[in-house]
Amino acid sequence: MFALMGKLVDYQSVREGAVIIEGNTIRAVVTAEELREWGVDEVYGGDGYIVIPGLINAHTHVAMAKFRGLGEDLPTEEWLEKIIWPMESEWTRREIREWAEIGIREALMNGSTTINDHYFFADEIAKVAERLGVRAFIGQTVMDEVDFPLADPGDGRRFFRQWWGRSDLVTPTLAPHATNTVSLELMEEIAELSAETGARVHIHLAQSRAEVEEVRKRHGVSPVDLLGEAGLLNERLIGVHGIYLENSGFRKLAGAGSTLVHCPTSNVKLEARTVNLPKLLEINLNVALGNDSPNPVGILDPFIEMRTAGIAANLTSGRAHAVPARELFGMATVGGARALGLKAGLIEPGYLADLVLINAKKPWFKPGENVYSLLVYSARGSDVEMVVVNGAIAHRKIF
Ligand SMILES: [Zn+2]
Repeated sequence: MFALMGKLVDYQSVREGAVIIEGNTIRAVVTAEELREWGVDEVYGGDGYIVIPGLINAHTHVAMAKFRGLGEDLPTEEWLEKIIWPMESEWTRREIREWAEIGIREALMNGSTTINDHYFFADEIAKVAERLGVRAFIGQTVMDEVDFPLADPGDGRRFFRQWWGRSDLVTPTLAPHATNTVSLELMEEIAELSAETGARVHIHLAQSRAEVEEVRKRHGVSPVDLLGEAGLLNERLIGVHGIYLENSGFRKLAGAGSTLVHCPTSNVKLEARTVNLPKLLEINLNVALGNDSPNPVGILDPFIEMRTAGIAANLTSGRAHAVPARELFGMATVGGARALGLKAGLIEPGYLADLVLINAKKPWFKPGENVYSLLVYSARGSDVEMVVVNGAIAHRKIF
């Protein structure tokens, strides 16, 4: 039994006190005086520290750390054709292990306790995630409308069956690549497996104009309606990006209880556009945040994504202070937890002990008022001092 102490901040409240961790859950939330009676083995933090629920990185491709910075200034199509796709076709298992480790360490040390990854060689990534102690939802990317051997649907099924129910930390997801690269039949099959098991379905959704046009040409419907036809429009669906969806599409996602993962840094770099976040919140669509890939975003730092989401919301809505800092923090915590079906994202007894200790004894945390604003606009991943996942210390800053 150990405790994290400081200013305890979650979406619901801000308190001074300590979080007592036993096993993989939060046992109690107490004051400094009460803590003395608990006889915990260790207390981390104290004055000048902030404790938050672990940030949930709801869309990543951790192994793509290998491509960081490559093709930086190329137009998106050329970047994919000249850099990403040729390099992806040459992956080896050893390289996937090496680069997944770099990406996962980076996500963890910057305060992500959970990642939701979508990539090839998912079994290798799952093993690395388990070894490093991050909570990971991992999907083997599958496609059947595009010839890409690494995305074979059979491998996706095998990975899912192998890992379902096997690990406390790693949960497999079903990961069709996108609405234009997967057939309706394969989507229907995935929908059945999801209904049977309760597994999450993680898919890129309306990420490019070409995707929307191809779906319209092939099926005569919008990407969201195609997901509906396939039986995928429900609370287990995690759609990513949505930057070319119409309002009706967002409303259908909200009505079905699905989640949209917002990745503003990636969107603005690759497509020079992103969603109108205040509109999504108005219709009560569950929104989570994701870093997407280290190429193009540069670094897997969930604090940067909260901040960019806030700034981008002003541009897309044409209104300053369009989304309060607390709401942005909520997307990275409770929004992500709801997307993945986790009892996490709040500092409450019985919740998973996925927590982050932040050293706030730095100039950019002064004077210390409005802690939500500090967490979104002042903090950065390098302020994270300790990361606890499933009740175990997964990262500790040593210098
Ligand atoms: Zn992606």
